[in-house]
Amino acid sequence: MNNNIDVSIVAPIYNEEENIGLLYSELKMVMDKTGINYEIIFIDDGSTDRTPKLLSDLNKKDERVVVVNFRRNFGQTAAMSAGFDYARGEVIVTIDGDLQNDPEDIPKLLDKIKECDVVSGWRFDRKDPFISRRLPSMIANWIISKVTGVELHDYGCTLKAYRSDVVKNIRLYGEMHRFIPAIASWMGVKIAEVRTNHRPRKFGKSKYGLSRTLRVVLDLITVKFLLSFSTRPIQIFGLFGVISGGAGILITGYLSYLKLIHGVNIGGRPLLLLGVFLILLGVQLIIMGLLGEMLVRIYYESQDKPIYVIRKVSDKK
Ligand code: UDP
Ligand code: MG
Repeated sequence: MNNNIDVSIVAPIYNEEENIGLLYSELKMVMDKTGINYEIIFIDDGSTDRTPKLLSDLNKKDERVVVVNFRRNFGQTAAMSAGFDYARGEVIVTIDGDLQNDPEDIPKLLDKIKECDVVSGWRFDRKDPFISRRLPSMIANWIISKVTGVELHDYGCTLKAYRSDVVKNIRLYGEMHRFIPAIASWMGVKIAEVRTNHRPRKFGKSKYGLSRTLRVVLDLITVKFLLSFSTRPIQIFGLFGVISGGAGILITGYLSYLKLIHGVNIGGRPLLLLGVFLILLGVQLIIMGLLGEMLVRIYYESQDKPIYVIRKVSDKK
């Protein structure tokens, strides 16, 4: 098959038997019109319905269709991650497999990505229930934007386009696919937003409920920490350690002064307990920071990972 693929479309699919045929024909119609050389990568995330069979039929029929079948359900993040691994295009577009994203928007994204590295879809007129989906998502987008400093209206929209070197450099865990723009911002990428259409889910069921909110918050803590301190953990742990230990030393120093100079009895004072506790906590935090520093070295040096990302090198010829 042709190796010069311009665009890889990646769709995570979990039990979407009624949607696959339609999704494929809509994608094909839109992409054929653009004249771009593309491939469609369907990741079957351990589906238990007719999905694997339908995807394998598409793969036989159309050489542009690549299918990756997982052995079991690994989750949407893993599915997208596999899509990035197998994508050969210079640009990678991710799209939901349930027809909620509109393939007609893809050309808009491709147009926009000429001037930047990541284009995020924004479902500005989202067709999901308000209380259970849109409200939590609005709050999440606001918090993620503030915490990571990458302001986007719609982190959760799967329809996004990436330059392949951006996503190929990112490892995803947990539910982190939604944080790709924030993680990528560490690399110094340019991010744009495009308003996209959104449709109600016609067939099949949503795979998520409210419990996702908590998981997203926990992942956000990880992302924020990694973005700010992944190569210098002592600076955050050490900072808190010094503050805590310093406060403890002041308190115990004050109590020692009372005891030694004025002979006051300090044995029954809660302050003593607090002072000792703060010193122990401070020591613990600094040790944790040092352990973190060792882990960072093991992580980067054992894999020969640089702690920087290069756009290009201009060497003397
Ligand atoms: N999905 C997946 N693995 C999972 C859950 C979901 O590949 O474990 C796919 C699903 O088939 C769909 C996309 O991820 O194509 C988004 O899922 P869903 O529509 O359920 O999420 P929502 O739109 O409700 O946020
Ligand atoms: Mg959906």
